[in-house]
Amino acid sequence: MKPSQVGSAVVPERVAVIGAGLGGLAAAVTLAAAGFKVEIFEKNSHLGGKLNRLVQDGFGFDLGPSILTLPHIFRQLFERAGRRFDDYVPLRPVLPHWRNVFEDGTVIDLDPDPERMRAELAKAGTDLDGPYQAFLEYSRRQYDLVDEGYFRHGLDTLPQFLRHYGWRIFKLDLFNTMHRAVCRRLPNPYLRDIFDFFIKYVGSSAVRAPGFMNLMPHIQFGYGLWYVDGGMHHLARGLERLLRELGVGIHTDCEVTGIDREAGRVTGVVAGGARHAADWVVCNMEVRPACERLLGSPPAALRRLDRFEPACSGLVIHLGVNRVYDLLAHHNFFYSAHQTEHFDTVFRRHELPTDPTLYVVAPSRTDPAVAPPGCDVIKVLPHIPWIDDDRPLGAADYAALRDRVLEKLERMGLTDLRRHIVVEHVWTPVDIRRMYYSDRGAIYGTVSDLWKNVAFKAPKRSPEYSNLFFVGGTVNPGGGMPMVTLSGLHAGDMIRAATGRTGGDSHG
Ligand SMILES: Cc1cc2nc3c(=O)[nH]c(=O)nc-3n(C[C@H](O)[C@H](O)[C@H](O)COP(=O)(O)OP(=O)(O)OC[C@H]3O[C@@H](n4cnc5c(N)ncnc54)[C@H](O)[C@@H]3O)c2cc1C
Repeated sequence: MKPSQVGSAVVPERVAVIGAGLGGLAAAVTLAAAGFKVEIFEKNSHLGGKLNRLVQDGFGFDLGPSILTLPHIFRQLFERAGRRFDDYVPLRPVLPHWRNVFEDGTVIDLDPDPERMRAELAKAGTDLDGPYQAFLEYSRRQYDLVDEGYFRHGLDTLPQFLRHYGWRIFKLDLFNTMHRAVCRRLPNPYLRDIFDFFIKYVGSSAVRAPGFMNLMPHIQFGYGLWYVDGGMHHLARGLERLLRELGVGIHTDCEVTGIDREAGRVTGVVAGGARHAADWVVCNMEVRPACERLLGSPPAALRRLDRFEPACSGLVIHLGVNRVYDLLAHHNFFYSAHQTEHFDTVFRRHELPTDPTLYVVAPSRTDPAVAPPGCDVIKVLPHIPWIDDDRPLGAADYAALRDRVLEKLERMGLTDLRRHIVVEHVWTPVDIRRMYYSDRGAIYGTVSDLWKNVAFKAPKRSPEYSNLFFVGGTVNPGGGMPMVTLSGLHAGDMIRAATGRTGGDSHG
Protein backbone atom coordinates (compact mmCIF):
# COMPACT_ATOMS: atom_id res chain seq x y z
CA MET A 1 0.00 0.00 0.00
CA LYS A 2 1.37 3.43 -0.96
CA PRO A 3 0.81 6.66 1.00
CA SER A 4 -2.47 8.15 -0.21
CA GLN A 5 -2.54 11.32 -2.31
CA VAL A 6 -5.07 14.09 -1.57
CA GLY A 7 -4.73 16.80 -4.22
CA SER A 8 -1.01 17.47 -4.34
CA ALA A 9 -0.46 16.59 -0.64
CA VAL A 10 0.68 13.14 0.48
CA VAL A 11 -1.37 11.98 3.49
CA PRO A 12 0.96 10.05 5.79
CA GLU A 13 -0.09 6.54 6.74
CA ARG A 14 -1.13 6.16 10.36
CA VAL A 15 0.56 3.73 12.75
CA ALA A 16 -0.80 2.82 16.18
CA VAL A 17 1.84 1.40 18.55
CA ILE A 18 0.48 -0.60 21.50
CA GLY A 19 2.94 -0.34 24.40
CA ALA A 20 6.03 1.78 24.97
CA GLY A 21 8.64 -0.87 25.76
CA LEU A 22 11.91 -0.63 23.82
CA GLY A 23 10.40 -2.72 21.00
CA GLY A 24 7.50 -0.30 20.53
CA LEU A 25 9.72 2.77 20.87
CA ALA A 26 12.20 1.44 18.29
CA ALA A 27 9.41 0.77 15.78
CA ALA A 28 7.97 4.25 16.44
CA VAL A 29 11.35 5.92 15.76
CA THR A 30 11.92 3.92 12.57
CA LEU A 31 8.48 4.73 11.19
CA ALA A 32 8.24 8.36 12.31
CA ALA A 33 11.65 9.01 10.75
CA ALA A 34 10.28 7.63 7.47
CA GLY A 35 7.29 9.99 7.49
CA PHE A 36 4.56 7.83 9.05
CA LYS A 37 2.12 9.45 11.48
CA VAL A 38 2.78 7.48 14.67
CA GLU A 39 0.73 7.36 17.87
CA ILE A 40 1.90 5.38 20.93
CA PHE A 41 -0.61 4.07 23.51
CA GLU A 42 0.92 2.97 26.82
CA LYS A 43 -1.01 1.72 29.84
CA ASN A 44 1.56 2.93 32.39
CA SER A 45 2.56 6.51 33.07
CA HIS A 46 6.20 6.06 31.99
CA LEU A 47 7.81 5.16 28.65
CA GLY A 48 10.32 2.30 28.48
CA GLY A 49 8.25 -0.63 29.79
CA LYS A 50 10.52 -2.79 31.94
CA LEU A 51 13.08 0.04 31.89
CA ASN A 52 11.54 1.43 35.03
CA ARG A 53 12.80 3.47 37.97
CA LEU A 54 12.09 3.91 41.66
CA VAL A 55 13.65 6.63 43.84
CA GLN A 56 13.22 6.56 47.61
CA ASP A 57 15.12 8.25 50.44
CA GLY A 58 18.04 9.11 48.19
CA PHE A 59 18.36 5.58 46.71
CA GLY A 60 17.79 5.20 42.95
CA PHE A 61 16.73 1.72 41.79
CA ASP A 62 16.69 0.46 38.21
CA LEU A 63 13.69 -1.88 38.48
CA GLY A 64 14.39 -3.60 35.16
CA PRO A 65 17.50 -4.18 33.05
CA SER A 66 20.94 -3.34 34.36
CA ILE A 67 23.34 -4.52 31.62
CA LEU A 68 23.41 -2.86 28.23
CA THR A 69 25.17 -4.74 25.43
CA LEU A 70 25.55 -4.31 21.65
CA PRO A 71 25.35 -0.48 21.69
CA HIS A 72 25.73 -0.38 17.89
CA ILE A 73 22.10 -1.55 17.61
CA PHE A 74 20.90 1.55 19.49
CA ARG A 75 23.24 3.73 17.39
CA GLN A 76 21.71 2.25 14.24
CA LEU A 77 18.24 3.18 15.50
CA PHE A 78 19.16 6.81 16.14
CA GLU A 79 20.91 6.98 12.75
CA ARG A 80 17.57 6.12 11.12
CA ALA A 81 16.39 9.49 12.42
CA GLY A 82 19.61 11.28 11.43
CA ARG A 83 20.68 11.63 15.07
CA ARG A 84 23.67 10.54 17.15
CA PHE A 85 22.80 8.10 19.94
CA ASP A 86 25.59 9.51 22.10
CA ASP A 87 23.95 12.97 22.05
CA TYR A 88 20.86 11.47 23.71
CA VAL A 89 22.12 8.58 25.85
CA PRO A 90 25.48 8.78 27.68
CA LEU A 91 27.10 5.35 28.09
CA ARG A 92 29.91 4.27 30.39
CA PRO A 93 31.86 1.01 30.10
CA VAL A 94 31.66 -1.27 33.15
CA LEU A 95 34.87 -2.96 34.31
CA PRO A 96 35.32 -5.66 35.39
CA HIS A 97 32.33 -7.07 33.51
CA TRP A 98 31.25 -9.47 36.25
CA ARG A 99 32.49 -10.74 39.58
CA ASN A 100 31.83 -14.46 40.16
CA VAL A 101 31.62 -15.67 43.77
CA PHE A 102 31.56 -19.37 44.62
CA GLU A 103 30.55 -21.20 47.79
CA ASP A 104 34.18 -22.28 48.44
CA GLY A 105 35.26 -18.62 48.64
CA THR A 106 36.80 -18.46 45.15
CA VAL A 107 36.23 -15.08 43.49
CA ILE A 108 36.95 -14.64 39.76
CA ASP A 109 36.36 -11.47 37.73
CA LEU A 110 35.56 -11.50 34.03
CA ASP A 111 37.53 -8.82 32.27
CA PRO A 112 38.09 -8.19 28.55
CA ASP A 113 41.71 -7.20 29.17
CA PRO A 114 43.78 -10.36 28.48
CA GLU A 115 46.43 -9.74 31.12
CA ARG A 116 43.91 -9.00 33.87
CA MET A 117 41.95 -12.04 32.76
CA ARG A 118 45.08 -14.20 32.91
CA ALA A 119 45.50 -13.28 36.58
CA GLU A 120 41.83 -14.01 37.28
CA LEU A 121 41.98 -17.40 35.59
CA ALA A 122 45.00 -18.33 37.70
CA LYS A 123 42.68 -18.09 40.74
CA ALA A 124 40.54 -20.79 39.13
CA GLY A 125 43.65 -22.92 38.53
CA THR A 126 43.56 -22.43 34.77
CA ASP A 127 45.12 -20.29 32.06
CA LEU A 128 44.15 -17.80 29.38
CA ASP A 129 45.54 -19.92 26.58
CA GLY A 130 44.09 -23.28 25.69
CA PRO A 131 40.42 -24.09 26.39
CA TYR A 132 39.43 -20.58 27.53
CA GLN A 133 40.65 -18.85 24.35
CA ALA A 134 39.31 -21.66 22.20
CA PHE A 135 35.89 -21.27 23.84
CA LEU A 136 35.80 -17.52 23.16
CA GLU A 137 36.77 -18.21 19.55
CA TYR A 138 33.92 -20.73 19.22
CA SER A 139 31.57 -18.11 20.79
CA ARG A 140 32.72 -15.54 18.22
CA ARG A 141 32.08 -17.92 15.32
CA GLN A 142 28.56 -18.65 16.58
CA TYR A 143 27.86 -14.94 17.08
CA ASP A 144 29.15 -13.92 13.64
CA LEU A 145 26.96 -16.51 11.95
CA VAL A 146 23.80 -15.66 13.88
CA ASP A 147 24.43 -11.92 13.52
CA GLU A 148 25.01 -12.01 9.79
CA GLY A 149 21.52 -13.37 9.04
CA TYR A 150 19.17 -13.73 11.99
CA PHE A 151 20.08 -10.44 13.68
CA ARG A 152 20.90 -8.20 10.70
CA HIS A 153 18.15 -9.27 8.36
CA GLY A 154 15.48 -9.98 10.95
CA LEU A 155 14.89 -13.52 9.67
CA ASP A 156 11.59 -14.86 10.94
CA THR A 157 10.70 -18.11 9.21
CA LEU A 158 12.40 -21.41 8.32
CA PRO A 159 12.21 -20.72 4.54
CA GLN A 160 13.90 -17.34 5.08
CA PHE A 161 16.55 -19.12 7.15
CA LEU A 162 17.22 -21.78 4.56
CA ARG A 163 17.33 -19.19 1.77
CA HIS A 164 19.81 -17.05 3.68
CA TYR A 165 22.11 -19.68 5.20
CA GLY A 166 21.83 -22.70 2.86
CA TRP A 167 24.17 -25.48 3.98
CA ARG A 168 25.90 -23.08 6.37
CA ILE A 169 22.97 -23.63 8.75
CA PHE A 170 24.90 -26.71 9.94
CA LYS A 171 27.71 -24.47 11.18
CA LEU A 172 25.31 -23.35 13.90
CA ASP A 173 25.73 -25.46 17.02
CA LEU A 174 22.21 -26.93 16.74
CA PHE A 175 22.66 -30.44 18.03
CA ASN A 176 24.25 -29.76 21.42
CA THR A 177 22.73 -28.01 24.38
CA MET A 178 24.55 -24.94 25.57
CA HIS A 179 25.66 -26.83 28.70
CA ARG A 180 26.95 -29.83 26.78
CA ALA A 181 28.94 -27.57 24.46
CA VAL A 182 30.39 -25.74 27.49
CA CYS A 183 31.38 -29.01 29.20
CA ARG A 184 33.00 -30.37 26.04
CA ARG A 185 35.19 -27.32 25.68
CA LEU A 186 35.88 -26.24 29.27
CA PRO A 187 37.22 -28.82 31.75
CA ASN A 188 37.43 -26.25 34.57
CA PRO A 189 34.37 -26.44 36.91
CA TYR A 190 34.37 -22.70 37.73
CA LEU A 191 34.43 -21.77 34.06
CA ARG A 192 31.64 -24.24 33.35
CA ASP A 193 29.35 -22.54 35.87
CA ILE A 194 30.31 -19.06 34.66
CA PHE A 195 29.78 -19.71 30.96
CA ASP A 196 26.58 -21.71 31.54
CA PHE A 197 25.17 -18.70 33.31
CA PHE A 198 25.52 -16.42 30.29
CA ILE A 199 22.07 -17.84 29.61
CA LYS A 200 20.86 -15.31 32.17
CA TYR A 201 20.74 -12.75 29.35
CA VAL A 202 17.65 -14.51 28.00
CA GLY A 203 16.20 -16.08 31.17
CA SER A 204 16.50 -19.68 30.03
CA SER A 205 18.28 -22.88 31.07
CA ALA A 206 21.74 -23.79 29.79
CA VAL A 207 20.80 -27.48 29.95
CA ARG A 208 17.88 -26.87 27.54
CA ALA A 209 19.07 -23.99 25.31
CA PRO A 210 20.71 -24.87 21.97
CA GLY A 211 24.51 -24.75 21.71
CA PHE A 212 24.56 -21.67 19.48
CA MET A 213 23.35 -19.61 22.46
CA ASN A 214 27.02 -19.79 23.47
CA LEU A 215 27.27 -16.73 21.22
CA MET A 216 26.57 -14.62 24.32
CA PRO A 217 30.10 -14.41 25.75
CA HIS A 218 31.20 -12.84 22.47
CA ILE A 219 28.45 -10.23 22.78
CA GLN A 220 30.05 -9.19 26.05
CA PHE A 221 33.75 -9.65 25.25
CA GLY A 222 33.53 -8.39 21.68
CA TYR A 223 31.23 -5.36 22.13
CA GLY A 224 31.58 -4.43 25.80
CA LEU A 225 29.26 -4.19 28.76
CA TRP A 226 27.76 -0.74 29.35
CA TYR A 227 25.93 1.38 31.90
CA VAL A 228 23.71 4.34 31.05
CA ASP A 229 24.83 7.33 33.10
CA GLY A 230 22.30 8.27 35.78
CA GLY A 231 20.51 4.93 35.51
CA MET A 232 19.34 2.64 32.72
CA HIS A 233 15.99 4.47 32.49
CA HIS A 234 17.87 7.31 30.78
CA LEU A 235 17.83 5.13 27.68
CA ALA A 236 14.03 5.46 27.62
CA ARG A 237 14.34 9.19 28.36
CA GLY A 238 16.68 9.63 25.37
CA LEU A 239 14.23 7.77 23.14
CA GLU A 240 11.32 9.84 24.44
CA ARG A 241 13.17 13.06 23.58
CA LEU A 242 13.82 11.77 20.07
CA LEU A 243 10.19 10.68 19.60
CA ARG A 244 8.90 14.11 20.65
CA GLU A 245 11.31 15.76 18.19
CA LEU A 246 9.94 13.48 15.48
CA GLY A 247 6.36 14.54 16.30
CA VAL A 248 5.15 11.17 17.58
CA GLY A 249 1.88 11.31 19.55
CA ILE A 250 2.44 9.83 23.02
CA HIS A 251 -0.52 8.73 25.14
CA THR A 252 0.41 7.42 28.58
CA ASP A 253 -2.04 5.96 31.14
CA CYS A 254 -3.93 4.84 28.05
CA GLU A 255 -4.56 1.09 27.88
CA VAL A 256 -5.44 -0.60 24.59
CA THR A 257 -8.37 -2.94 25.14
CA GLY A 258 -8.97 -4.14 21.60
CA ILE A 259 -7.67 -4.19 18.02
CA ASP A 260 -10.32 -3.49 15.36
CA ARG A 261 -10.37 -5.86 12.39
CA GLU A 262 -12.11 -6.02 9.06
CA ALA A 263 -11.67 -8.47 6.17
CA GLY A 264 -8.29 -9.89 7.20
CA ARG A 265 -6.80 -6.53 8.11
CA VAL A 266 -6.58 -4.51 11.30
CA THR A 267 -8.14 -1.06 11.14
CA GLY A 268 -7.18 0.56 14.43
CA VAL A 269 -7.16 0.21 18.20
CA VAL A 270 -9.50 0.89 21.08
CA ALA A 271 -7.47 2.87 23.62
CA GLY A 272 -8.56 4.81 26.67
CA GLY A 273 -12.16 4.03 25.71
CA ALA A 274 -11.93 5.67 22.23
CA ARG A 275 -11.41 4.25 18.71
CA HIS A 276 -8.23 5.29 16.90
CA ALA A 277 -8.10 4.36 13.21
CA ALA A 278 -4.74 3.16 11.85
CA ASP A 279 -3.34 1.77 8.60
CA TRP A 280 -0.77 -0.30 10.54
CA VAL A 281 -0.69 -1.60 14.10
CA VAL A 282 2.57 -2.43 15.91
CA CYS A 283 1.91 -4.42 19.06
CA ASN A 284 4.48 -4.37 21.88
CA MET A 285 2.08 -6.23 24.17
CA GLU A 286 3.43 -9.80 24.18
CA VAL A 287 2.04 -12.10 21.51
CA ARG A 288 0.01 -14.49 23.65
CA PRO A 289 -1.65 -11.91 25.93
CA ALA A 290 -2.42 -9.77 22.87
CA CYS A 291 -3.98 -12.71 21.03
CA GLU A 292 -6.04 -13.59 24.09
CA ARG A 293 -7.13 -10.12 25.14
CA LEU A 294 -6.96 -7.80 22.14
CA LEU A 295 -7.76 -10.15 19.25
CA GLY A 296 -9.92 -12.82 20.94
CA SER A 297 -7.97 -15.54 19.07
CA PRO A 298 -9.60 -19.00 19.01
CA PRO A 299 -8.13 -21.86 21.12
CA ALA A 300 -6.51 -23.51 18.07
CA ALA A 301 -4.54 -20.33 17.31
CA LEU A 302 -3.45 -20.09 20.96
CA ARG A 303 -2.35 -23.75 20.97
CA ARG A 304 0.00 -22.95 18.07
CA LEU A 305 1.75 -20.56 20.47
CA ASP A 306 2.34 -23.24 23.14
CA ARG A 307 5.91 -23.92 22.00
CA PHE A 308 6.71 -20.26 22.70
CA GLU A 309 6.70 -20.84 26.45
CA PRO A 310 7.66 -17.79 28.54
CA ALA A 311 11.22 -17.29 29.72
CA CYS A 312 11.68 -17.29 33.49
CA SER A 313 10.34 -14.68 35.83
CA GLY A 314 12.29 -13.26 38.77
CA LEU A 315 12.07 -12.30 42.39
CA VAL A 316 13.53 -8.80 42.13
CA ILE A 317 14.83 -7.61 45.50
CA HIS A 318 15.86 -3.93 45.69
CA LEU A 319 17.78 -2.96 48.80
CA GLY A 320 19.07 0.34 50.10
CA VAL A 321 21.72 -0.45 52.73
CA ASN A 322 23.56 1.82 55.16
CA ARG A 323 27.03 0.46 54.41
CA VAL A 324 29.19 -0.47 51.42
CA TYR A 325 30.30 -4.07 50.74
CA ASP A 326 33.79 -4.18 49.26
CA LEU A 327 33.14 -7.69 48.00
CA LEU A 328 30.75 -6.38 45.37
CA ALA A 329 31.70 -5.16 41.90
CA HIS A 330 29.02 -3.49 39.75
CA HIS A 331 27.77 -6.88 38.46
CA ASN A 332 28.15 -10.06 40.51
CA PHE A 333 27.05 -13.68 40.43
CA PHE A 334 26.79 -15.78 43.56
CA TYR A 335 26.66 -19.33 42.28
CA SER A 336 24.47 -22.21 43.29
CA ALA A 337 26.48 -25.15 44.62
CA HIS A 338 24.63 -27.29 42.02
CA GLN A 339 23.77 -25.07 39.08
CA THR A 340 22.35 -27.74 36.76
CA GLU A 341 20.00 -28.74 39.59
CA HIS A 342 18.97 -25.07 39.85
CA PHE A 343 18.17 -24.98 36.10
CA ASP A 344 16.18 -28.19 36.44
CA THR A 345 14.15 -26.89 39.40
CA VAL A 346 13.19 -23.63 37.71
CA PHE A 347 12.76 -24.65 34.08
CA ARG A 348 11.62 -28.30 34.18
CA ARG A 349 9.93 -28.77 37.56
CA HIS A 350 8.75 -25.12 37.68
CA GLU A 351 9.45 -24.87 41.39
CA LEU A 352 11.09 -22.17 43.48
CA PRO A 353 14.79 -22.97 43.83
CA THR A 354 16.33 -23.87 47.19
CA ASP A 355 19.82 -22.71 46.19
CA PRO A 356 19.60 -20.40 43.16
CA THR A 357 22.47 -18.68 41.37
CA LEU A 358 22.00 -15.02 42.26
CA TYR A 359 22.63 -12.01 40.07
CA VAL A 360 23.58 -9.09 42.33
CA VAL A 361 23.97 -5.52 41.04
CA ALA A 362 25.66 -2.66 42.89
CA PRO A 363 25.50 0.24 40.39
CA SER A 364 27.19 2.75 42.71
CA ARG A 365 30.53 1.16 41.71
CA THR A 366 30.11 3.00 38.38
CA ASP A 367 27.67 5.74 39.42
CA PRO A 368 28.04 6.87 43.07
CA ALA A 369 25.06 9.26 42.71
CA VAL A 370 22.54 6.37 42.99
CA ALA A 371 23.01 6.05 46.78
CA PRO A 372 23.65 8.49 49.68
CA PRO A 373 27.31 8.72 50.86
CA GLY A 374 28.42 5.61 52.77
CA CYS A 375 25.35 3.68 51.57
CA ASP A 376 24.72 1.27 48.74
CA VAL A 377 22.04 0.19 46.30
CA ILE A 378 21.92 -3.58 45.88
CA LYS A 379 19.60 -5.42 43.51
CA VAL A 380 19.32 -9.19 43.84
CA LEU A 381 17.70 -11.26 41.11
CA PRO A 382 17.22 -15.01 41.35
CA HIS A 383 15.53 -16.47 38.27
CA ILE A 384 12.32 -18.25 39.23
CA PRO A 385 9.48 -19.94 37.31
CA TRP A 386 6.75 -18.07 35.48
CA ILE A 387 3.30 -18.03 37.10
CA ASP A 388 1.36 -21.27 36.80
CA ASP A 389 -2.24 -20.20 37.39
CA ASP A 390 -3.24 -23.82 38.00
CA ARG A 391 -0.64 -24.13 40.78
CA PRO A 392 -0.14 -20.55 42.03
CA LEU A 393 2.50 -19.66 44.59
CA GLY A 394 1.54 -17.32 47.43
CA ALA A 395 3.15 -14.33 49.09
CA ALA A 396 4.53 -16.64 51.84
CA ASP A 397 6.38 -18.77 49.24
CA TYR A 398 8.06 -15.71 47.75
CA ALA A 399 8.83 -14.31 51.23
CA ALA A 400 10.52 -17.61 52.18
CA LEU A 401 12.64 -17.44 49.02
CA ARG A 402 13.59 -13.84 49.84
CA ASP A 403 14.86 -15.06 53.24
CA ARG A 404 16.82 -17.96 51.68
CA VAL A 405 18.42 -15.57 49.20
CA LEU A 406 19.54 -13.05 51.82
CA GLU A 407 20.84 -15.85 54.08
CA LYS A 408 22.88 -17.19 51.17
CA LEU A 409 24.38 -13.75 50.49
CA GLU A 410 25.27 -13.31 54.18
CA ARG A 411 26.91 -16.75 54.22
CA MET A 412 28.88 -15.95 51.05
CA GLY A 413 30.34 -12.66 52.25
CA LEU A 414 27.70 -9.91 52.61
CA THR A 415 27.90 -10.09 56.39
CA ASP A 416 24.80 -8.99 58.35
CA LEU A 417 23.13 -7.80 55.14
CA ARG A 418 19.64 -7.92 56.66
CA ARG A 419 20.71 -5.72 59.58
CA HIS A 420 21.86 -2.98 57.20
CA ILE A 421 18.72 -2.70 55.08
CA VAL A 422 17.08 0.74 55.29
CA VAL A 423 14.89 0.57 52.17
CA GLU A 424 13.47 -2.60 50.61
CA HIS A 425 11.17 -3.30 47.66
CA VAL A 426 10.47 -6.79 46.40
CA TRP A 427 8.80 -7.47 43.05
CA THR A 428 7.26 -10.90 42.57
CA PRO A 429 6.14 -12.40 39.23
CA VAL A 430 2.63 -11.25 40.12
CA ASP A 431 3.80 -7.61 40.27
CA ILE A 432 5.69 -8.01 36.99
CA ARG A 433 2.65 -9.41 35.19
CA ARG A 434 0.38 -6.69 36.59
CA MET A 435 2.78 -3.90 35.61
CA TYR A 436 3.76 -4.94 32.06
CA TYR A 437 1.10 -7.53 31.13
CA SER A 438 3.88 -9.99 30.31
CA ASP A 439 2.87 -13.60 29.67
CA ARG A 440 2.73 -15.31 33.09
CA GLY A 441 5.10 -12.71 34.55
CA ALA A 442 8.08 -13.52 32.29
CA ILE A 443 10.91 -10.99 32.30
CA TYR A 444 12.72 -11.84 29.03
CA GLY A 445 9.90 -12.77 26.64
CA THR A 446 10.01 -16.30 25.20
CA VAL A 447 12.26 -19.06 26.54
CA SER A 448 15.11 -20.38 24.35
CA ASP A 449 14.66 -24.15 24.39
CA LEU A 450 16.17 -26.66 21.98
CA TRP A 451 13.20 -29.04 22.16
CA LYS A 452 10.36 -26.54 22.29
CA ASN A 453 11.37 -23.91 19.73
CA VAL A 454 15.14 -24.24 18.94
CA ALA A 455 15.37 -20.70 20.42
CA PHE A 456 13.12 -19.20 17.74
CA LYS A 457 10.35 -16.86 18.75
CA ALA A 458 7.07 -15.98 17.05
CA PRO A 459 7.31 -14.12 13.71
CA LYS A 460 6.97 -10.36 13.73
CA ARG A 461 4.26 -10.24 11.08
CA SER A 462 0.90 -11.62 12.22
CA PRO A 463 -0.05 -14.73 10.21
CA GLU A 464 -3.71 -13.63 10.40
CA TYR A 465 -3.57 -9.89 9.68
CA SER A 466 -1.05 -8.64 7.13
CA ASN A 467 -0.85 -5.09 8.56
CA LEU A 468 -0.36 -6.18 12.19
CA PHE A 469 3.20 -6.57 13.53
CA PHE A 470 4.47 -7.71 16.90
CA VAL A 471 7.66 -6.43 18.53
CA GLY A 472 9.45 -7.19 21.82
CA GLY A 473 10.76 -10.22 23.63
CA THR A 474 8.18 -12.72 22.34
CA VAL A 475 9.11 -12.31 18.65
CA ASN A 476 12.40 -12.90 16.85
CA PRO A 477 15.16 -12.38 17.83
CA GLY A 478 13.86 -12.45 21.45
CA GLY A 479 14.40 -10.83 24.86
CA GLY A 480 16.97 -8.41 26.23
CA MET A 481 17.28 -4.71 25.40
CA PRO A 482 19.27 -4.90 22.16
CA MET A 483 17.19 -7.77 20.77
CA VAL A 484 13.80 -6.16 21.40
CA THR A 485 15.16 -2.94 19.87
CA LEU A 486 16.17 -4.93 16.80
CA SER A 487 12.66 -6.39 16.56
CA GLY A 488 11.21 -2.85 16.52
CA LEU A 489 13.73 -1.68 13.94
CA HIS A 490 13.00 -4.65 11.69
CA ALA A 491 9.21 -4.43 12.06
CA GLY A 492 9.49 -0.75 11.11
CA ASP A 493 11.62 -1.67 8.10
CA MET A 494 9.11 -4.32 7.01
CA ILE A 495 6.30 -1.75 7.08
CA ARG A 496 8.48 0.75 5.23
CA ALA A 497 9.28 -1.87 2.61
CA ALA A 498 5.58 -2.78 2.24
CA THR A 499 4.73 0.86 1.52
CA GLY A 500 7.67 1.39 -0.83
CA ARG A 501 9.60 3.53 1.68
CA THR A 502 12.62 1.27 1.90
CA GLY A 503 15.81 2.14 3.65
CA GLY A 504 16.44 -0.82 5.92
CA ASP A 505 17.84 -4.19 4.98
CA SER A 506 15.15 -6.45 6.47
CA HIS A 507 13.36 -9.26 4.78
CA GLY A 508 9.75 -8.33 4.14
C1 LIG B 1 14.41 -7.38 36.56
C2 LIG B 1 14.80 -7.41 35.10
C3 LIG B 1 16.14 -7.48 34.75
C4 LIG B 1 16.51 -7.49 33.41
N1 LIG B 1 17.85 -7.44 33.10
C5 LIG B 1 18.20 -7.21 31.82
C6 LIG B 1 19.54 -6.84 31.50
O1 LIG B 1 20.38 -6.70 32.39
N2 LIG B 1 19.85 -6.61 30.20
C7 LIG B 1 18.92 -6.69 29.21
O2 LIG B 1 19.26 -6.44 28.04
N3 LIG B 1 17.65 -7.02 29.48
C8 LIG B 1 17.26 -7.26 30.76
N4 LIG B 1 15.96 -7.51 31.06
C9 LIG B 1 15.01 -7.75 29.96
C10 LIG B 1 14.59 -6.46 29.27
O3 LIG B 1 14.17 -5.53 30.23
C11 LIG B 1 13.43 -6.77 28.34
O4 LIG B 1 13.77 -7.80 27.43
C12 LIG B 1 13.01 -5.57 27.51
O5 LIG B 1 13.11 -4.35 28.20
C13 LIG B 1 11.58 -5.82 27.08
O6 LIG B 1 11.18 -4.90 26.11
P1 LIG B 1 9.84 -5.14 25.30
O7 LIG B 1 9.85 -4.20 24.15
O8 LIG B 1 9.67 -6.57 24.98
O9 LIG B 1 8.63 -4.75 26.24
P2 LIG B 1 8.29 -4.29 27.71
O10 LIG B 1 9.42 -3.58 28.35
O11 LIG B 1 7.67 -5.42 28.40
O12 LIG B 1 7.17 -3.21 27.39
C14 LIG B 1 5.88 -3.54 26.95
C15 LIG B 1 5.04 -2.32 27.21
O13 LIG B 1 3.74 -2.53 26.69
C16 LIG B 1 2.80 -2.02 27.64
N5 LIG B 1 1.52 -2.68 27.40
C17 LIG B 1 1.26 -4.01 27.44
N6 LIG B 1 -0.03 -4.24 27.12
C18 LIG B 1 -0.58 -3.03 26.86
C19 LIG B 1 -1.90 -2.60 26.46
N7 LIG B 1 -2.87 -3.48 26.25
N8 LIG B 1 -2.12 -1.28 26.28
C20 LIG B 1 -1.13 -0.38 26.46
N9 LIG B 1 0.12 -0.72 26.85
C21 LIG B 1 0.39 -2.03 27.03
C22 LIG B 1 3.41 -2.35 28.98
O14 LIG B 1 2.88 -1.54 30.02
C23 LIG B 1 4.88 -2.05 28.70
O15 LIG B 1 5.19 -0.70 28.96
C24 LIG B 1 15.53 -7.49 32.40
C25 LIG B 1 14.18 -7.44 32.75
C26 LIG B 1 13.81 -7.38 34.09
C27 LIG B 1 12.35 -7.26 34.45
